[in-house]
Amino acid sequence: MNRKYMAEPYKIKVVEPIAMSTQEERTAAIKRAGYNTFLLKSKEVYIDLLTDSGTSAMSDNQWAGMQIGDEAYAGSINFYHLEEAVRELYGFKYVVPTHQGRGAENILSKIAIKPGDYVPGNMYFTTTRAHQEMAGATFRDIIIDEAHDPQSEHPFKGNIDLNKLQALIDEVGAERIPYICLAVTVNLAGGQPVSMQNMREVKQLASKYGIKVMFDATRCIENAFFIKEREEGYQDKSIREIVKEMFSYADGATMSGKKDCLVNIGGFLALNDEELYQKATQLVVVYEGMPSYGGLAGRDMEAMARGMYESVDYYYIKHRVEQVRYLGERLIEAGVPIVKPIGGHAVFLDARAFLPHIPQDQFPAQMLAAKLYEISGVRSMERGIVSAGRNKEGQHHFPKLELVRLTIPRRVYTYAHMDVVADAVIELYKQRDSIPGLKMVYEPPVLRFFTARFEPLK
Ligand SMILES: *Cc1c(COP(=O)(O)O)cnc(C)c1O
Repeated sequence: MNRKYMAEPYKIKVVEPIAMSTQEERTAAIKRAGYNTFLLKSKEVYIDLLTDSGTSAMSDNQWAGMQIGDEAYAGSINFYHLEEAVRELYGFKYVVPTHQGRGAENILSKIAIKPGDYVPGNMYFTTTRAHQEMAGATFRDIIIDEAHDPQSEHPFKGNIDLNKLQALIDEVGAERIPYICLAVTVNLAGGQPVSMQNMREVKQLASKYGIKVMFDATRCIENAFFIKEREEGYQDKSIREIVKEMFSYADGATMSGKKDCLVNIGGFLALNDEELYQKATQLVVVYEGMPSYGGLAGRDMEAMARGMYESVDYYYIKHRVEQVRYLGERLIEAGVPIVKPIGGHAVFLDARAFLPHIPQDQFPAQMLAAKLYEISGVRSMERGIVSAGRNKEGQHHFPKLELVRLTIPRRVYTYAHMDVVADAVIELYKQRDSIPGLKMVYEPPVLRFFTARFEPLK
């Protein structure tokens, strides 16, 4: 394979050695972990693709910023740097730091939602929906139908279906919709982007009815890169210009800094409305801390502010998205079934098509993740029937998508690592007929995927 790619736009100043292991050691480790990759120790893992959350490598500039943390209880200089970054890059007037994205979701849900309200969104995210529901709202998925089809090649699979939005407004009334939650990109659809045109149209329709639009901005930079690549009229615009225009269609945003802000911890709520901001500052003191630190150390706010400026660098984000795509394209070329198009932060293996001989209640994606670890030391995550849990009657949910997620941390691994991963998946694909299903031998009552244990079937 002789593919041309853009080499890493950074050089390595500090290294963290990773543990090498033998197949024998890994066979023992995955057995001990009950065939659940969440139960492996990180030191048993060679290439860790469990998540892109909080796993980014910081730059020398961010580490330098951590040395000038101003740990004053109130009015830390690092807060003002963060506020400046949010104003300059995203264009919001007010910012409330939080310990991570879900802290911002909690505050936004509590200040904006009344019991009985509806919050429409482009597919759900676990913590986002949980906070909306705890505040008394009903969530409605209004993403376009293509998002639910792993083979659809729609370039903006994260788009909102305006007809579904209009239908909800007609059904429940605009006064029961405090805001639309628009995620850029859509994590659970596979890191799929939203087009600028769709953001503009959603904002127009919402404004007509006095409904606010709140972005889940977690992967907004990856989304901006897809717009530059794919949307008519944006090829010559900078990532900064695109990001600024995107947020001009929002009234506010929640941010998990652990993703596109290139830090290991942190987040914020950004708003334009002064009254909502006042309410947010009243709540942040109860749940997070003073409005000028919100659960973060001064040094963490400094690292996040600096990470935000680095994230809008064209070569950084081009390398980031293309590295993920490289892995996906190598798998497609070898005939391995994956979700298309390849998203911004992860490649998803279609376990149902990979292991068609294993029925869904024998946990094909769970076994695929376990086997991938066993042959290569690569850690991935099940996103299928185990993650979906059980319904109120105690039966398994049988989700349409039975996937294994290979999530790429930012600035951590090289193309050589991507080749190791691709080679391992392709090798496993050749051996697929010999892979058996699993039976669950321990099942916790909630969020079972974190701690459930399995044994292979004969
Ligand atoms: C990670 C994530 C969140 C929550 O952020 P945390 O920092 O993990 O609390 C919200 N939305 C999306 C789309 C995410 O990926």
